[in-house]
Amino acid sequence: MRNMNKILLIEDIENAENKTLTCIFEEKIKEIDCVTPIKAKLEAKSLGEFIQIKGHVSGKVRLECDLCLEKFDYSLDFDIDEVFSKGNLIGEYENSDKEYEIKDGQFITDLNGEKEIDIYDLLYQSVILNFPNKKVCGINCKGKEYLSEENNSDPRLEVFKNLQINPKCR
Ligand SMILES: [Zn+2]
Repeated sequence: MRNMNKILLIEDIENAENKTLTCIFEEKIKEIDCVTPIKAKLEAKSLGEFIQIKGHVSGKVRLECDLCLEKFDYSLDFDIDEVFSKGNLIGEYENSDKEYEIKDGQFITDLNGEKEIDIYDLLYQSVILNFPNKKVCGINCKGKEYLSEENNSDPRLEVFKNLQINPKCR
């Protein structure tokens, strides 16, 4: 369920003291398997043509291990630093679709004339992006042991296995 406090109006940021609004988010994100609500304290600041949103995100989600397929809890703890462009600035750049890079790792998202920023969607995207590349439940993952055992298997035993799986030989 989305409601108004998850939508930041550009106008409200402009009218706020120091053109800065603080936004607290504490809720489970429906599209993600959340163990705890996702907590975020964000600061939205108007920089003229740009809106910058900075803050910290924490919470616990449930992921599936890539090796053993067991579910495990993963703690989120990362910073958000996003810049949105209010104008049609990005249209002037060639080969740019929705965002372009202004410096290492810093992207600008074009609001395409939108008068609001969807905090729920921003957090959803950020959480997904901060999932580990390789999801492993832990150093004692059974899938890991299984894989390493397989890699170290004796080729002589492989022959034995092949004999066993062919009952017609009897
Ligand atoms: Zn595992």
